[in-house]
Amino acid sequence: MLTIREHCDACGGPLDDVFSMGSMPLANGLLSEADRLQPCETFPLMVAECQVCSLAQLRFVVDPTRLYDRYPFYTGASGPNVPYFHDLARQIQVRSHGLRVLEIGSNDGTLLAAMESVGLQVAGVDPAVEQCEQARTRIHHGDVVCKYWGTSTAYDFGGLFDSVVACNVLGHSNDLQDFIAGVRRVIRTDGLFVIEVQYLSALLKQAAFELIYHEHVSYFDEVSLGGLLARNGFKVIDWEITDSQCGTLRMWANAMGGGIAPEIQPHDWRGFSAQINDRRDFVMRQIYRAQQDGRRVCFYGAPAKATQLSNYWRLGTNTIEFATDTTLAKQGRYIPGSLIPVVHPSRLECTDAAIVAAWNFYPQIATQEAAFLAAGGQLISPTLAGDHFENLSRGRCAQALA
Ligand SMILES: [Zn+2]
Repeated sequence: MLTIREHCDACGGPLDDVFSMGSMPLANGLLSEADRLQPCETFPLMVAECQVCSLAQLRFVVDPTRLYDRYPFYTGASGPNVPYFHDLARQIQVRSHGLRVLEIGSNDGTLLAAMESVGLQVAGVDPAVEQCEQARTRIHHGDVVCKYWGTSTAYDFGGLFDSVVACNVLGHSNDLQDFIAGVRRVIRTDGLFVIEVQYLSALLKQAAFELIYHEHVSYFDEVSLGGLLARNGFKVIDWEITDSQCGTLRMWANAMGGGIAPEIQPHDWRGFSAQINDRRDFVMRQIYRAQQDGRRVCFYGAPAKATQLSNYWRLGTNTIEFATDTTLAKQGRYIPGSLIPVVHPSRLECTDAAIVAAWNFYPQIATQEAAFLAAGGQLISPTLAGDHFENLSRGRCAQALA
């Protein structure tokens, strides 16, 4: 159920423990009415950093079959993901040397459908059963294999791919070497390998501890990801930071070799911890002010971030009465640990103050909820004022405080 990692998963180097969140429930493990009455299962959540390649990774790794048993995340359920992946699909179509593309971690097929719509021939692989079924209904050709990615799964695909794309999945892998070796097995030498990962530098800068949870086993920046690719025969040809998922690192590489591992830079984990405390004080002041105004305080959305925020900051139902969420599968369930009930968005009233748990979507949510705001409703962004990652507009926080 729990593996203790003694050495770096990327290079085998020694690890230093750098940040602990204590024992936490599984962030996506929303509870049913019956589960709610049982003692909540928790697992240690500790980040360790490699002294050799600087990859930040979890010290304790939960068995993936336990993590993805009932995985509630659907890419397409987050509205802004759809245009984002359409844009990525167009870029892949322009930059790829051929039409055959494999997506690792294809989830509900949002990117597969977008890639097919621009003329690419797609195939997908993902371990989540329901998401695979949904993905199959969204594409006209090609197949989706319902398995974990690795060298053994690579044999399920015939021929070589012109491009392989892996968005928000590498950080979930608990065997990075096998993941990358699998890609090498299915990609043409001049093929394009496109990877998107949660960007560690943005996470640290925003004191975004809620992005750390058991499903995210590794936390990359351009140094640790560039090094992993270089050591495995890939050459980084381009990289950029996008504002998806609170800051995403997108790397483009080919399999021609000759990549150079970048020099490592120390990360400021002590500063990160101090900033989390400042952030908590700032957010708690807003909650108390809303309560004093007679508002009910709730979560707008019940993503994994809501589990981490409520449990790490000890916010129970006496502070946050409920969480609204548009995902049907989440409604009627409870956030593990804090036991905040997840309800239909119609429960939100214009006298409420809603903490936007998915604060990376704050601008879109503020636009969507214009009527709620105009009627006197309040949205709170649980982020630290004035110290945002530069690509994530400062205006967002000012707007939240208005
Ligand atoms: Zn390492």
